[in-house]
Amino acid sequence: MAISTVSAENYLRDASGYSGEAEQVFVPDTTAEVRELVQICSAKGIPLTISGAGTGLTGARVPHGGYIVSLERFRKLEIEAGRARCGAGVLLRDLQAAAGRSRQFFGPNPTEDTACIGGIISTNAGGARSFHYGSVRRHILGLEVTFMDGRTVWLKRGDRVDFPITPIRLPATTKNSAGYYLQPDLEWVDLLAGSEGTLAIITEAELRLQPEPGAILSGIVFFSADANALDAIEAWRPLDELRLLEYIDVNSLRLLRPHYLEIPDAAQAALMIEQNLQSEEDPEVDAWTRRLSEHRAFEEESWFGFRASDRERFRTFRHTLAAMVTDMARRTGFSKFSTDLAVPVSRHRELHAYYRQRCQEVFPGKFTLFGHAGDANNHVNLLPATRQEANRCEELMYELAQHVVSLEGTVAAEHGIGKTKIELLKLMYSSDEIEAMKEVKRRLDPHWLLGRGNLFALA
Ligand SMILES: Cc1cc2nc3c(=O)[nH]c(=O)nc-3n(C[C@H](O)[C@H](O)[C@H](O)COP(=O)(O)OP(=O)(O)OC[C@H]3O[C@@H](n4cnc5c(N)ncnc54)[C@H](O)[C@@H]3O)c2cc1C
Repeated sequence: MAISTVSAENYLRDASGYSGEAEQVFVPDTTAEVRELVQICSAKGIPLTISGAGTGLTGARVPHGGYIVSLERFRKLEIEAGRARCGAGVLLRDLQAAAGRSRQFFGPNPTEDTACIGGIISTNAGGARSFHYGSVRRHILGLEVTFMDGRTVWLKRGDRVDFPITPIRLPATTKNSAGYYLQPDLEWVDLLAGSEGTLAIITEAELRLQPEPGAILSGIVFFSADANALDAIEAWRPLDELRLLEYIDVNSLRLLRPHYLEIPDAAQAALMIEQNLQSEEDPEVDAWTRRLSEHRAFEEESWFGFRASDRERFRTFRHTLAAMVTDMARRTGFSKFSTDLAVPVSRHRELHAYYRQRCQEVFPGKFTLFGHAGDANNHVNLLPATRQEANRCEELMYELAQHVVSLEGTVAAEHGIGKTKIELLKLMYSSDEIEAMKEVKRRLDPHWLLGRGNLFALA
């Protein structure tokens, strides 16, 4: 085989800390090479795992044996009005930068912008702005994929899956990336988004771009009481053109404070917002003064701005938190204990109270709670220091997931199931619904070679 290979070292873990092993890593340059690799794997029964940028949080790109294929050389990037054509290996930040030069942007914006396009499609990633724009699936206009039978096809939005499927129930949440999207009149792009590298190899995508609004107001608002921040979330969620509504709890602020001395000392919670406006003179700008006062937020010490550099500063503030928590987990050597649970937005407050109570009982002070409050998708991060504590984390994560399912929520709002959350998928779907997913898997990958161990446990 003439396809380039590289050392496996950088492909055997992801940001969750989950690790594995592989025989070879192949880095094809063309779809013909992808087909050749698929044909060899199919003929010889070699498991094949697709690697994106490795920022995933569920071990999904990590293999246990077999070959790895990385699409990192698929870097085509063409921007037109309303759409971008990108290779699967293009990084999200490169897409956003190129789109920005034509005053456009890609709506859903997972905070980790070093993820690649193949990865964000395969996990149906969400992010802060999914609150307004939805998850990645909604923004896919077409996909070029290679199936395990060696066919490479271009699938455009509207092309329907050409075999029968059994539809499953979906949770009543605004985001979901748990399992295959088996819905009536299923379109190919909707099935492949969120399929976590188990059904086909994506080599190229056409994604929808949005025009930049006249102005964007962004800010970080600090509160002296958590309850005031929670009231503000409910009051602000329905605001017109609010495109981002993120929550940061007191423990998270404590972690951030050494890096951001300007965080008010008395702050007990913060909300990050972004709103699309007609212009910087839009009457909405003044309305924020009233809103802050209504919810007893710190008016003078909260941060607001209109410039792209302000948005980037606030994004970095929020991202630093996620990166710090990931890094702390990596340093302890335990997997990252982070939930990706979401409930219907009407249950957000109830879930928040439950999280605080259970985490405080089991891990007093050793947890953070932050994330996508607009979508009722805050992440609980548990920070164990010992093996014994890590075991308790596993139990608590399972318990939280059970509770969320009882509230008609999802066990994976945006990160997917991968290898680390298979038990949680079983909480959410019946064995018949999981069997319906396996039927699709068997049809497209009869020898169960692609992304082996993702979504379904190995027999
Ligand atoms: C600090 C931090 C913050 C994060 N914030 C967010 C957030 O706000 N929202 C969010 O949704 N996620 C977030 N994540 C998780 C992560 O960035 C996403 O899951 C992302 O979509 C993974 O992309 P990746 O390229 O790194 O994929 P990888 O981790 O490499 O792989 C993920 C899955 O995609 C599959 N895959 C990759 N490329 C292809 C392809 N070409 N064809 C088919 N399958 C493929 C892999 O097989 C695997 O199953 C965060 C992660 C970190 C570390």
